[in-house]
Amino acid sequence: MTKPLLGCIADDFTGATDLANNLVRAGMRTIQTIGVPATLSPLDADAIVVALKSRTIPAAEAVAQSLAAYAWLRDQGVTQVYFKYCSTFDSTPKGNIGPVTDALLDAIHGEGKGFTIVCPAFPENHRTLFNGHLFVGEQLLSDSGMRHHPLTPMTDANLVRVMQAQTKRQVGLVPHRIVAQGPAAIREAFEALEASGVGIAVVDAVSNADLISMGQALADTSLVTAGSGVAIGLPQNWQAKGLLQKQHRADLLPPAMGHKAVISGSCSMATNAQVAHWQQSKLPSFLIDPIALAKNDQIEKDAAEWAKANLAKGPVLIYATAPPDQVQAIQQQLGIAAAGELVEQALSRIAATLVEAGVRQLVVAGGETSGAVVQALGVQRMTIGPQIDPGVPWTAVKSPLSNGEPLHMALKSGNFGTVDFFQKAFDCLGVAHA
Ligand code: ADP
Repeated sequence: MTKPLLGCIADDFTGATDLANNLVRAGMRTIQTIGVPATLSPLDADAIVVALKSRTIPAAEAVAQSLAAYAWLRDQGVTQVYFKYCSTFDSTPKGNIGPVTDALLDAIHGEGKGFTIVCPAFPENHRTLFNGHLFVGEQLLSDSGMRHHPLTPMTDANLVRVMQAQTKRQVGLVPHRIVAQGPAAIREAFEALEASGVGIAVVDAVSNADLISMGQALADTSLVTAGSGVAIGLPQNWQAKGLLQKQHRADLLPPAMGHKAVISGSCSMATNAQVAHWQQSKLPSFLIDPIALAKNDQIEKDAAEWAKANLAKGPVLIYATAPPDQVQAIQQQLGIAAAGELVEQALSRIAATLVEAGVRQLVVAGGETSGAVVQALGVQRMTIGPQIDPGVPWTAVKSPLSNGEPLHMALKSGNFGTVDFFQKAFDCLGVAHA
């Protein structure tokens, strides 16, 4: 039994998995919990990620949930806390990144005290930060598609300014020319900024080497706020202190067993291509038509029966995935929210029936769809395993529906994964535990 070293609070579900995936790749055995666990029973992991859905809820609620997560993590004995937000810094002047950061610093260091960083950079995913300005690929954040986001439009790429509008603390900058000089220079810059009254420093990073230097400079910082990128530089600190084994295989899961299925409720371009590729490979699939579903629930029963009859032969796919013109026509007929809810509920009930029928390797496509399925299966925590494609690891979970047996799940958010993702997922699990 290992005591957790790092405690993370993530402001959305797939972002939590993305962070957990980076921690596992950097050598930390990681468990992700769905919300704040009800009990304090200790978890055997090097890092714990508490997944919240607090990105766009009212700031006061985001603060309350984040503080509850912090209190739970502190009681687990973690030595460092990591507040994880989106790599495009999704937020408004009202929050929630600033208010949550202030509340966590207040809780850890006392009202108005303490020091932390801001760094959404994730160079591997083309999010870089230079002279305090966030770039998405080669564009400034404010020139990227994020300027049209329906909930959190990002119209200013200068994160010192963006953060200053959300926090009561003074915001400063550690520019790239200092980051490039390495950990000692970064640490000196932190000390100088803190001495001058700065409570939050935006730190530049354009490469993984910058994240590694930054990670070293953060060894004794109680609170880190960042995207998932900064996580790759932290494990070395515990390794240097002998608290975490080097070359530790952090992605080991129990052996996979049972039947295999894919449930797809994502209508993104990538998922449409993945479903088409599955069908071109002559693998069995069943379409859930939302219009038929809205008339009665026979199609849901038919899908479950069809799957049960085919499971023994190999993996099956049940999907509502459709191209944009069809989705639009369905939404016009049923309403956008109603169509989404109808499909999510049907797919999650089908997932539950499949697990009861012996499916133990389940791939789910779609962020919202994944949330609905995880809820229907009664999953409370996930142990993070090997990466299938960037941002999507296999996980092992416990479900009251899986007869006491381990259930392996991969949750793929919309645009992730190569065209052969579904087949690759099952192959990779088979190989990892052959
Ligand atoms: P993504 O990660 O690609 O955004 P989500 O699961 O988050 O996927 O969102 C897709 C939404 O579209 C879900 O609410 C799902 O129920 C809904 N949906 C799936 N198929 C259809 C369809 N054929 N018509 C309309 N809505 C659909």
